[in-house]
Amino acid sequence: MRRGCIAVGEFHCDGCGKLLKHPARYLAVEEKDGVEVDEGTVVRYCVDCCLEKSYAKYRSEKGESILTFLEVEPQSE
Ligand SMILES: [Zn+2]
Repeated sequence: MRRGCIAVGEFHCDGCGKLLKHPARYLAVEEKDGVEVDEGTVVRYCVDCCLEKSYAKYRSEKGESILTFLEVEPQSE
């Protein structure tokens, strides 16, 4: 399960170790052995890691680039 969140306090990204602090956006994902599952260990990823893992993307709206966390499974090929 994925949840887009706003950081409260400070913590490190579980992907790259970057320090995240309020009001940074991050994504909480449940994973087991590095694979996304419904019930697993909650890991927190910064925006950069989310983009790298295709958990988030930018879309354009009224000329602005808006970050969207993808809360559904990406299509498998
Ligand atoms: Zn990161």
